[in-house]
Amino acid sequence: MMKTHTCGELREKDAGTPVQLAGWVNRRRDQGGLIFIDLRDRWGITQVVVDLESAPEAHAVADSARNEYVLAIKGNVRIRPEGTANPELATGDIDIVADEIVILNQSRTPPFYINKDEGNVDEALRMRHRYLDLRRETMQKRILLRHKTVKFIRDFLEAEDFIEIETPILFKTTPEGARDFLVPSRLQPGMFYALPQSPQQLKQLLMVGGFERYFQIARCFRDEDLRGDRQPEFTQLDLEMSFVEREDVMRLMEELATAIVKSVTPEKRLIAEPFPRINYWDALEQYGTDRPDIRFDLRAIDISEIAGRCAFPVFVENVKAGKKVKCMRVPAVAGALSGTQLRKAAKDLENMARRHGAKGLAYITIPTDPEGELRGPIGKFFNVDLKLELIEAMGAEGGDLLLFMSDRDEIVYAVTDALRSHFKAEMDLDDNLLAFCWVIDFPEFIWDAENERWDPSQHMFTMPLPEDLDLLDSDPGSARGSQYDMVCNGYEVGGGSIRIHDRAIQEKIFPLIGQSMEQAMREFGHMLEAFEYGAPPHGGMAWGIDRLVMLLAGAPNIREVIAFPKTQNGTDIMANAPSIAEPEQLSELFLQLVHPDAED
Ligand code: ASP
Repeated sequence: MMKTHTCGELREKDAGTPVQLAGWVNRRRDQGGLIFIDLRDRWGITQVVVDLESAPEAHAVADSARNEYVLAIKGNVRIRPEGTANPELATGDIDIVADEIVILNQSRTPPFYINKDEGNVDEALRMRHRYLDLRRETMQKRILLRHKTVKFIRDFLEAEDFIEIETPILFKTTPEGARDFLVPSRLQPGMFYALPQSPQQLKQLLMVGGFERYFQIARCFRDEDLRGDRQPEFTQLDLEMSFVEREDVMRLMEELATAIVKSVTPEKRLIAEPFPRINYWDALEQYGTDRPDIRFDLRAIDISEIAGRCAFPVFVENVKAGKKVKCMRVPAVAGALSGTQLRKAAKDLENMARRHGAKGLAYITIPTDPEGELRGPIGKFFNVDLKLELIEAMGAEGGDLLLFMSDRDEIVYAVTDALRSHFKAEMDLDDNLLAFCWVIDFPEFIWDAENERWDPSQHMFTMPLPEDLDLLDSDPGSARGSQYDMVCNGYEVGGGSIRIHDRAIQEKIFPLIGQSMEQAMREFGHMLEAFEYGAPPHGGMAWGIDRLVMLLAGAPNIREVIAFPKTQNGTDIMANAPSIAEPEQLSELFLQLVHPDAED
């Protein structure tokens, strides 16, 4: 070993010890006869002092060293002279007086600072030199946190008698609502593997295989347009259990999530224990989304009953036509604004609502004086009694802004979600607060108007709730699935369900989701067959590890917690992937390119 100690561990008690350290030059200060080098490795920083008089050769080497050079150092630990200790540094009470320094490797000047957080370095530049970006303290901490989280999960599940089993990457379509990545087979000309969108079928088959408690830290692949919280390949904690009901899986997963937060990130606070449970439709009605951020309480409240009695013709007509009128109370906003500012703010919000398909966004403001008039264009349509009813229904106070939405449900949901995101951005929410909640009672299917068929709300293997099983025949749209999603701070951390383990029920799903039995047999015949050989009742869940670690790290997106992520357009700009294939490779795979630019 080139090092006897790390750069993070030496303390006062080690004074006098001869040591060898190795690492990177974090910073070098030349004070003529003395050169100070902050030597950095994964564990910390230690100051090395090189004295021209006592170690002239080492001094000459130190003189030529630059930031990010890799050095090996021999020397002795010394308590720093009076008044020069650095309380910012764990090793700040000591330094190493160097006898010998070897340059193990040189470094060009890095394109951005490694030794301080510049904050606004261009992400493309960081990605192009990701190996340098990873050396930065923030990234080191995030990757370490990821390791600790995964390790904790493994230990926890092992203690709960789960075993980790690997499943293949080269497989067959495992639909989770995205496009498949295909891999051409050389040995079977014209045939393709699909990379797993999740190990869903395989983990179910492991239950048929008698393992009862399985998990895997699994890589999944989904070819879809990327957003901040998506990557073409990502990591799941994938888990499945036999002989369980919905409550059993939810209880275990909630225990695991709580234990992770308490042990890996004790500085974080959980907003509520046990995690609140929200019905899917309530989530949509109140928050406009099935992954609500419940750290703040802006909600859309149905006030159709009151609005139907006001004198505003649009509301009255809408309520008659069976549309809802919903209201969101934004506390204290209006009180702080002048009339002109308020009109401008309301116009901006209305424009946002229009971008989501709404025809407008009515508003009023609540007077600070209880006798005062409602302000805003539709204030005059509420008489005194209705005004009081409205204030009571909304729990409104003087200075509040009330926003009104009335449209088709999908539009109201979208506007509710957009308004909440807008105000959230202004709120400076505490990232140390983790607001986990469960969303349950999803519909089994969601109507796909374009293709005129039902789409599974989760995936095609989700068991309907036992009391809704009969609805598969009579009214599939009303059947609720056994799906449960775990949501945190507005992100879906994971989802799961109790699965169908009965061939007859599974066979009912295919025609509903627009698949012929022939196609179903081709793609999923192995599942149907397996269900005929004593498949146990089973259920499970998967978490997005990247998203979970992002939340634990308080990072702005999942690329910040993945060592080598793809950029927003799915490329690795460090290694230039994807890249062209050589003509011989294509012909071995019996492939011909028809892309217009293929010739180039
Ligand atoms: N396979 C599902 C997914 O990847 C999770 C599950 O149902 O366990 O979202």
